Amino acid sequence: MDCLFCKIANKEVPAHVVYEDDTTMAFLDIHPRAMGHTVIIPKTHTENIITADDALTASVFLTVRKIAGILNNTLKPKGFTIGINHGSISGQTVPHLHVHVIPRYEGDGGGSIHSVVNYPSPLSLDEVVKKIKTFDK
Ligand code: AMP
Ligand code: ZN
Repeated sequence: MDCLFCKIANKEVPAHVVYEDDTTMAFLDIHPRAMGHTVIIPKTHTENIITADDALTASVFLTVRKIAGILNNTLKPKGFTIGINHGSISGQTVPHLHVHVIPRYEGDGGGSIHSVVNYPSPLSLDEVVKKIKTFDK
């Protein structure tokens, strides 16, 4: 499959790898939004968190946690923004699941996750929760 992050996972494309284990890999984003901006991927291809199975999802987020700790101890940021662009509408450009871990520094000029979108709901909270709860496990 012609997938950039699969190629990085398979070492066909070089990357600044900061951590890897059997199922996940963490490497520096080639266009960092802040020092230490890291991307965590599963080594096997899956497009997003909905297509990923439970085990893969768990291992990706365990690596996210590990990387946040490592960056915290080494680069000493003041905090992090951690997130996923899911789907092209959200800005996903590489269709292979990846979690961005972006260290946050004093004066970095960035906003919170709330600044990503501000599109008022046409439905009330009551209506939305009712809709969501029609989902049957
Ligand atoms: P997204 O927009 O969430 O799909 O993020 C994809 C990210 O991958 C972007 O932040 C890119 O800067 C990053 N990226 C693209 N190509 C490479 C590469 N060869 N090595 C490392 N990061 C990359
Ligand atoms: Zn892939």
